[in-house]
Amino acid sequence: MSKHAYAQVESGSPVLDALEELLGERVTTAMAVREHHGRGEDYFKPVPSEAVCFPHTTEEVAEIVKICAAHRVPVIPFGTGTSLEGHVTAPHGGITIDLMQMNEVLEVHPEDLDCRVQAGVTRKQVNEYLRDTGMFFPIDPGADASLGGMASTRASGTNAVRYGTMKENVLGLTVVTADGKIIRTGGRAKKSAAGYDLTRIFVGSEGTLGVITEVHLKLYGIPEKIASAVCQYPSLGEAVDSVILTIQAGVPVARIELLDALMMEQTIAYSKLEGYETKPTLFYEFHGTEAGVEEQAQLVREIADEFGGSAFQWTTSQEERNKLWQARHDAYYAGTSVEPTKLGMSTDVCVPISRLAECILATEQDTRASGFDTPIVGHVGDVNFHVLFMLDPDDADEVRRVKECNQRIVERAIAMGGTCTGEHGIGVGKMDYLPLEHGEDAVDLMRTLKRAYDPDNIMNPGKMVRL
Ligand SMILES: Cc1cc2nc3c(=O)[nH]c(=O)nc-3n(C[C@H](O)[C@H](O)[C@H](O)COP(=O)(O)OP(=O)(O)OC[C@H]3O[C@@H](n4cnc5c(N)ncnc54)[C@H](O)[C@@H]3O)c2cc1C
Repeated sequence: MSKHAYAQVESGSPVLDALEELLGERVTTAMAVREHHGRGEDYFKPVPSEAVCFPHTTEEVAEIVKICAAHRVPVIPFGTGTSLEGHVTAPHGGITIDLMQMNEVLEVHPEDLDCRVQAGVTRKQVNEYLRDTGMFFPIDPGADASLGGMASTRASGTNAVRYGTMKENVLGLTVVTADGKIIRTGGRAKKSAAGYDLTRIFVGSEGTLGVITEVHLKLYGIPEKIASAVCQYPSLGEAVDSVILTIQAGVPVARIELLDALMMEQTIAYSKLEGYETKPTLFYEFHGTEAGVEEQAQLVREIADEFGGSAFQWTTSQEERNKLWQARHDAYYAGTSVEPTKLGMSTDVCVPISRLAECILATEQDTRASGFDTPIVGHVGDVNFHVLFMLDPDDADEVRRVKECNQRIVERAIAMGGTCTGEHGIGVGKMDYLPLEHGEDAVDLMRTLKRAYDPDNIMNPGKMVRL
């Protein structure tokens, strides 16, 4: 579909007039604001929309979408803009709905371990709000992303090995559909067999089916004891084998994160970590009772010994733990800081646990043989890892070489029964891998779904599936 199939949003156009009447100064066509919203934290060139809106309520979002639907104008929802696959670009023009001024925690039910938040609340904000309640929300992508954006990308993070991803932790949603209706999905009951599971259709839909305005989250009690440890290994293979055995042995670790020697070198420098060597490294965290944590740590210690792991370096105080995990969350920035004139491109495959060692080692060999000095970092407890390429988007040859290497990484993972994306999502960058992973017939059914939810293709068009 060409851009011209959609109405333009320009000064004096009926769409802009109607949006200005609704939102006043909370709609803007200022180029700096549009450019900021025209890209994520990725390597795609910015493609700004024609105007950016800042609603405060679900009802305002519904009115904005109704105006856009009436004039056939694309709508691109926007949280914190930290997505990594060109998700928030506006290839067909239209408007961006920035949800960050919808940032209220609406209700907390400590007795039921759940809460409801507006979509613009970030993962750190919700935990700050919950700080004195004894509860927390565990999903922690490296960036301090919005919960609406996290639901939309089916995000996960370092805690997913124990607590699951957004798929498991969203109980329900408030959504503005493509025709401007307000619907509520899911509910507060622990389980339900009532009809199609619309919550799980919107979770991971990347703004292509509707705008999420509220998210109902599952919460967890803060464990009695939390302990983090770092263990360094002689080789990447031994570190990975240690993870595989830990997971296969069923030890309920909360976090196991891998940094290869290069990633460790960059992280030590960027986050000023002291006392570690530039070796393949695992960061662990154990949650439970005092006795439970001791038992888990003992089991993992024995496994680490088998693979030549160093003595565990424990971080006991909350301050030290925060520093360690912030360093892990900042690994992407540690990698990108090395070549500040280039942009980062993170791969995101995930494979069955039995194939992890083979997949990571073949990937490392492939990148080195292709002339890339790329670090590897991974949520290896979830069997999900990232290779961080640095590229200059204007250097066509470099972009081609990176894309070819990424394609081999994806094809290898899919051939092993894995996926092209464990957590970052499809956006623009991975659309071509969907048929390879799911087959043409399954992708056709996704197209049917998209057309049923959004017949005029106004919701984040040009993403996820080619129509
Ligand atoms: C340093 C760094 C580390 C990261 N680490 C991780 C990680 O560990 N795990 C992980 O999963 N991801 C990670 N990411 C990727 C990113 O943080 C996640 O994809 C995150 O969920 C995006 O949230 P956001 O609020 O920034 O969404 P945005 O980037 O603003 O939007 C992402 C997509 O969701 C849509 N969207 C946003 N809000 C809404 C809404 N309210 N309703 C409907 N659609 C909406 C947008 O249209 C877009 O398609 C990382 C990114 C960076 C930069």
